[in-house]
Amino acid sequence: MTDTNLSIPVREPAQTGLDDTILPFEVSALDLRGRIVRLGPAVDAILSSHDYPLPVAKLLGEAIVLTVMLGSALKFEGRFILQTQSDGPVRMLVVDFTSPSKVRACARFDGERVAAAIAADEAEPGQLLGQGHLAMTIDQGPDMNRYQGLVPLEGNDLEHAAHEYFQRSEQIPTRVRLAVAEEFRGGENGVRRRWRAGGILLQFLPKSPERARQADLDPGDAPPGAEAYVPPEDEAWVEGRSLVATVDDIELIDPDLSSERLAYRLFHEHGVRVFRAAPVEAQCSCSRQSVENMLRSFPQEDRDDMVEDGKITVTCEFCSSTYVFTPNEIVAALS
Ligand SMILES: [Zn+2]
Repeated sequence: MTDTNLSIPVREPAQTGLDDTILPFEVSALDLRGRIVRLGPAVDAILSSHDYPLPVAKLLGEAIVLTVMLGSALKFEGRFILQTQSDGPVRMLVVDFTSPSKVRACARFDGERVAAAIAADEAEPGQLLGQGHLAMTIDQGPDMNRYQGLVPLEGNDLEHAAHEYFQRSEQIPTRVRLAVAEEFRGGENGVRRRWRAGGILLQFLPKSPERARQADLDPGDAPPGAEAYVPPEDEAWVEGRSLVATVDDIELIDPDLSSERLAYRLFHEHGVRVFRAAPVEAQCSCSRQSVENMLRSFPQEDRDDMVEDGKITVTCEFCSSTYVFTPNEIVAALS
């Protein structure tokens, strides 16, 4: 996955942060490209609509940032879906990015196990996920092949999983930083909590592919005792990933530090170009019609089981919108 819209340079860096944006940048002296994502109202709308336990919300927030960074690099109309399936207290995360700008997300978790993890101070992202896998799916529509990349989750966090994915599947040296936090603001009606999130993705894309070679994660079938050959990392990449390693969480979410300023702060010694920022919005794709179609696809027997107090009520797992139908509405539509 590489950046696509690198053709429109922006001349004036914004002084103040612009929330819900994706900012592509390029450091050509080091063959680096990347993007900085900054989310305010979009991530707050998604996480507030769910009311998940704090560490679950934070983990889902990280997944949202990662998905927006990867999905916004798609070169075509389509969807990018990030999904985890694992044996930890958080069984599943799903984040769905529809190009060019819409994102929605939800989590499935075991409330008792999450509460126990919090009580035992074992609610770090890797501990909540446990063992399993992370799947990234690109869906370009019904007539196109779906592309899926899989990476194992082995008790590590999403940043680690993203690094593994890019090293194994794409062979692009990549570093990702993700940050999510709640901001507390006093107002007339007391303190209001708001979610903020941000992230940076940096990739090394030299013209000669040999420069992008990385050490294998696994020595493979080398004879026992043999020293695994570790190719030296390119100096430009060492410089790039070292700079990203210095980024603090606060720099990724601070509303007073714009993405342009952050890019400049990190890379000004080498010269950094930023491009036009793209917007992101929290928007679900569910509708009364799509829910109705889904209900119609069930056998009558199953629909009968769904009736409670004379109604069928369906709540969207992504956005918590509720759709209410009378059983007759669905049957009538059939005939
Ligand atoms: Zn929805």
